[in-house]
Amino acid sequence: MRILTVIGNRPQFIKASAVSSRLRSRAEEITVHTGQHYDRELSQVFFDELKLPPPEHLLGIGGGTNTGQTARMLAALEPLLADVRPDAVLVYGDTNSTLAGALAAVQAGVPVAHVEAGMRSFDRSMPEEVNRVVTDHLSRLLLVPSQTAVENLRRESVDGTVELVGDVMVDVALLLQPGARARTDTLAPYGVEQGGYVLATAHRAGNVDDPARLAQLVALLLSLDRPTVFPLHPRTRARLVDAGLLAALEQADHMRLAKPLGYLDFTALLCNAHAVLTDSGGVQKEAYLAGVPCVTMRPNTEWVETVEAGWNVLVDLDAAAAAVALERIPPPERPQLYGDGEAGERVATAVALLT
Ligand code: UDP
Repeated sequence: MRILTVIGNRPQFIKASAVSSRLRSRAEEITVHTGQHYDRELSQVFFDELKLPPPEHLLGIGGGTNTGQTARMLAALEPLLADVRPDAVLVYGDTNSTLAGALAAVQAGVPVAHVEAGMRSFDRSMPEEVNRVVTDHLSRLLLVPSQTAVENLRRESVDGTVELVGDVMVDVALLLQPGARARTDTLAPYGVEQGGYVLATAHRAGNVDDPARLAQLVALLLSLDRPTVFPLHPRTRARLVDAGLLAALEQADHMRLAKPLGYLDFTALLCNAHAVLTDSGGVQKEAYLAGVPCVTMRPNTEWVETVEAGWNVLVDLDAAAAAVALERIPPPERPQLYGDGEAGERVATAVALLT
């Protein structure tokens, strides 16, 4: 059994690290890195820290518009599929690499397995939502993290087989958060203290590509009254530079801007934060698992259970709502939402049986 795994960005490297070694003990796995994320800080550091086997193929696609990037991936994947002749293609999440991997596979007559299937924000203006929906309808095997995702797929009457396996990112977080929490020396360079600061991330197109929304995001960050560590995604940095808004953040006393961090440093900062302020999907989940309240700068989320559990508040870019939400005391209970940390094992078993 030969599996071609298609990955290309930061959260996919993290997710694949929970599956790859398990899959390789059951089947032949060949990995292709599309090059959607190519900076060292968004790519190589995750292979090193999470012991992900180096990819056998690099497509070097780079940036660009969603359509242009996806088109270049499709053109590069077609001959690769013909050459590798896999029995199945494995894709993760909701990026252009996910969609391109799934579509190229189906066009080549190869069955697709999709990890993190069934997630929905019900907001088709998000490129990720379109990628999720299309990928799910192309997939033979849909491996889902939650019961909500099972129900979403049932409503859409997908053709493939749906299997509830839990969330592979949870596997990684449960394994590494305890050690990361103890690494309090990571906080020192930012001059912040355990439980006293906010950890912020922002990179969604809907927040950073529109100059008016970006200005609102910056105003929200500038209004915070706690020290705020803000590792800047390269896309966000570029948009802030274009809009002439970076200097204001750099000059604000409470803001601690940083490069994108490796998983271990980021997780150390996450586990020791007072709260997390984010528009990331993965970070909402990781904050929940770490028992750190999350405030999400989006009008909606795919990770609805974290909101229902009272640990995540959606504020979009409303600074006053964010200020209140960041000081809110979460409920004492934190039920297990996205599995038991063994999702990678279930994914590997199911994928190795796919024909
Ligand atoms: N992350 C990281 N360093 C950072 C910011 C995030 O390692 O500086 C990790 C974070 O722990 C999470 C993942 O990257 O596992 C989230 O990726 P991102 O926010 O880029 O994507 P999304 O989850 O929104 O698709």
